[in-house]
Amino acid sequence: MRDVVIVGGGPVGAMLACVLAVGGLDVEVLEQRDTPSFRSRAIGIHPPSLAALAAIGIADALLERAVRIREGEVRCDARRLGRLSFEKAAPAYPFVVALPQYETEALLRARFEQLRPGQYRRGVTVTAVQDDGDAVAVSTDTGAIEARYVIGADGARSRVREQAGITWRQLGRRETYLMGDFADPDSSDTGAVLYFERGGVVESFPLPGDRRRWVAMTDFLATDADSADLAALIRHRTGVSVAEPLGAASSFAVQQRLAGSMCAGRILLAGDAAHQISPIGGQGMNLGWLDAVALAPALQRALLEPAAAASVLAHYDRTRRSAARRAALQAGFNMQMGRPAHGLRLGVRNAFVRTLTLPPANELVARAFTMRWL
Ligand SMILES: Cc1cc2nc3c(=O)[nH]c(=O)nc-3n(C[C@H](O)[C@H](O)[C@H](O)COP(=O)(O)OP(=O)(O)OC[C@H]3O[C@@H](n4cnc5c(N)ncnc54)[C@H](O)[C@@H]3O)c2cc1C
Repeated sequence: MRDVVIVGGGPVGAMLACVLAVGGLDVEVLEQRDTPSFRSRAIGIHPPSLAALAAIGIADALLERAVRIREGEVRCDARRLGRLSFEKAAPAYPFVVALPQYETEALLRARFEQLRPGQYRRGVTVTAVQDDGDAVAVSTDTGAIEARYVIGADGARSRVREQAGITWRQLGRRETYLMGDFADPDSSDTGAVLYFERGGVVESFPLPGDRRRWVAMTDFLATDADSADLAALIRHRTGVSVAEPLGAASSFAVQQRLAGSMCAGRILLAGDAAHQISPIGGQGMNLGWLDAVALAPALQRALLEPAAAASVLAHYDRTRRSAARRAALQAGFNMQMGRPAHGLRLGVRNAFVRTLTLPPANELVARAFTMRWL
């Protein structure tokens, strides 16, 4: 019987697997996909996550591939409203880095393969989990397996959460966006830029390889829109003409949700399975990694001292759901600030943004944007 089986080998499952393996536990990951996903999702990686990646031995490899973002700028009507430096946000890593999620995931999987060869199993779909008190029985489409603890890191549509009977509650309203990557030879010279325009926010972030990610708020889910539509929207709102598109544009709807608990006996949740946070602000994957960092010592203790299990796992549930609520609030604030604004509302918002980017507020805001309070 394994110490831990992790359902889902996305960024959170793979990170948790590495942290547990480094801590000496016998862990196996079950991932339903036969091949990695190249969908465009997370890019932003924050200082607390870089510390976690250093602890499992892959921060240097990641930093070699990623772009460092040392500051963010807010603009409106072709003028700068304010600038936020991340230099003082964290002494060890005074920046946020950007790397496509599929590259980050590949580094995590490669590290776990070094630590526990053959224990990241692809093409295995978990169909049911049953907590028998002393162990958890995991049924899959390829057979059954048992573990002391099972972690659902199987994303927002978590089967594990459903099997454990854990509720899933929506927080706040739904927003829609259009996103795409474009060539940008000057990409690394400019940091992150938020354009708080009348028609809604447009965000732009540097990516490695002279690319830039653009994200624009839309009035509806523009499933038929292509990169030319996105380029036209960017030009219309900000006056910026983007260079050639790199890949197709994609639309997405943002919904924030929180699980009623991250712990049901020997079944636990981490990452998007426990909390779905708006990508605006780039926190979801990072928050899941911080779950992993908190869950690893709790599981070690629970395995060594069964009498302490209930209290350490309840502590994990309490502290991580409270961090998720803070992240959701922050993301809600980011989305609120980016909504269309005109007249008096626009003036008040711009004045507020200026205040937030000046002392004494700016250091607090930089801490929040680099996830130092989660
Ligand atoms: C457009 C966009 C931009 C984003 N940008 C950022 C950002 O900049 N920074 C940030 O921190 N976050 C960002 N996020 C959020 C981030 O992508 C997610 O928070 C992150 O992917 C969650 O990781 P996870 O491992 O919990 O879940 P997932 O990535 O969803 O992985 C779950 C895994 O479980 C597997 N699985 C599911 N069901 C089963 C089953 N029954 N059996 C076996 N395997 C199963 C799936 O195949 C998948 O591989 C963004 C999201 C989007 C959509």
